[in-house]
Amino acid sequence: MKAYDAPCKRRDFLKKLGLLSGIAAGSVAVPGLPGFGPPGPGPSGSALAQAGSEGSFRPQDAALKEALFYKKHAEMEVECELCPKNCKVGDIERGYCGVRENRSGVYYSLVYARPCAVHVDPIEKKPLFHFLPGTSAFSIGTAGCNMDCKFCQNWEMSQARPEQTRNYLLEPRELVQNARQTNSASIAFTYSEPAVVAFEYMLDSAREGNKENVRTVMISNGYINREPMLEALKHLGAVKIDLKAFTEKYYKEICDATLKPVLDVLLLLAKSGVWYEIVYLVLPTLNDSDSELTSMSRWVKRELGPDVPLHFSRFYPTYKMKRLPQTPNSTLERARNIARSAGLNYVYIGNVPGHEGESTYCPACDRPVIRRAGYSILERNISNGKCVQCGQKIPGIWR
Ligand code: SF4
Repeated sequence: MKAYDAPCKRRDFLKKLGLLSGIAAGSVAVPGLPGFGPPGPGPSGSALAQAGSEGSFRPQDAALKEALFYKKHAEMEVECELCPKNCKVGDIERGYCGVRENRSGVYYSLVYARPCAVHVDPIEKKPLFHFLPGTSAFSIGTAGCNMDCKFCQNWEMSQARPEQTRNYLLEPRELVQNARQTNSASIAFTYSEPAVVAFEYMLDSAREGNKENVRTVMISNGYINREPMLEALKHLGAVKIDLKAFTEKYYKEICDATLKPVLDVLLLLAKSGVWYEIVYLVLPTLNDSDSELTSMSRWVKRELGPDVPLHFSRFYPTYKMKRLPQTPNSTLERARNIARSAGLNYVYIGNVPGHEGESTYCPACDRPVIRRAGYSILERNISNGKCVQCGQKIPGIWR
């Protein structure tokens, strides 16, 4: 794997100021790579370590891979059909996500095989709790996102263009080899929104990985159109969707997006047979009312079923939301109680290491089947996908 040696003045500047946060909790540097810190939940999860200097773009840094899912129009205009933004893009222009470019009427991904964050993480960090627990996920992120969430923990990469990040050259086959060399059971497209904006890279990596029994997991905002999602589901091992709130108002004002397409993707997942989990980041006063949490939980139970894991995650003040306090434990516990009362069997609390809500409990006998603390597994009482105490089947992908 080769890292382009792009100029890095902004990074050096930040380093001098002591603003680089280093490696986030729970992650391991990839052998042979300088410690390019991965983003992740929590205050230490900054992506600043990937940021390069603005204006450092070099043509060879742009990996030109023709995009999937776009239409050609007159006068060299193209229409991207990958996500609900459906950007119409003129010649020499880019779509909203900043990583897909029209060149003479042909649309290209600029981040194919060009991740800017590469790390080995516990799968619990994604979080996926019912998918190969205790294994590692070889995790990559690229520049770009199709939303602009005001609370984004990884905004330095999600809101960057590929010429503003230091990028590796990591072709799908090499990505799979790296996963195998690091004993990772899966490859995670994570941190920013590579699962959508680097869709072609994810798809090719999933195809390559499946040949070697390395599953690809999509860690995503779920803001993707139906056809590409159906295509991705043919190849993916698991999916985690961030359901950011349960109102269109929140999606519009806080994320610059819309809720309905995300719900449509969840409905697709429910029918797909691919394992998936949901994360709901709880922002004090903005998406934490009893009525919203109740409506969301009832919708999940009615439309998706009682067994889809739902993680209520703690928010930390960051990016454009530094004035909002972090989510109190009491709010997360209230959310969990509401969801359990609505009939959901697997409801978790995230970003509160050591909380009892991190563990999986058997819905039949109520004993812990997997006890966790942070990203570590302390105790396993599950065998062949069943609770060892009472034999109840626990849904998920186990090994
Ligand atoms: S993937 Fe990017 S270019 Fe395509 S529609 Fe979405 S935001 Fe626009």
